[in-house]
Amino acid sequence: MNDRAPAPGGLALVEALVNTVDLESGADTLDTAEGRARFGIEERDLTDVRRLRESLRAACLAHAGHPPHAPVTPLGELLAAAPLHVAVDERDGSATLVPADGGPLLSRVAAAVAEALTAGTWDRLKACELPECHWAYYDRSPAGRGRWCSMSVCGARAKMRRYRAKGT
Ligand SMILES: [Zn+2]
Repeated sequence: MNDRAPAPGGLALVEALVNTVDLESGADTLDTAEGRARFGIEERDLTDVRRLRESLRAACLAHAGHPPHAPVTPLGELLAAAPLHVAVDERDGSATLVPADGGPLLSRVAAAVAEALTAGTWDRLKACELPECHWAYYDRSPAGRGRWCSMSVCGARAKMRRYRAKGT
């Protein structure tokens, strides 16, 4: 849960996908037709999309120095199947990786990761360290050492927990 501005560029798609499920309540917006329409997916895609979502979450956790929250398929393995091609602008010769075939979600995610690599933003997309949260957020702190999606919610919960642990 957070009140932060969305991640920059295509990373906002990755962030939004990771944050379709509330791990604490189990509420998953991909269970609804509107939730799926937002990502251009169908009900039959759900198994694959959820697998992709948790692999992305594990990568976000890794960016913050944490181990995976669950056994996941390595993200690189999933993205290797994404049809992408290099588009070159004839006017200025600039090139970008774009999803092939109008962009299935997997390819749009792969293109977003490629774009973020170029922009130097990929490793700033992190997941909150609180196990019941693990919400994705974009770390804008100058040193890049953010730990929680929200200082006032998860940061405060973590501090309270440490305080209680000391008291016992
Ligand atoms: Zn959090």
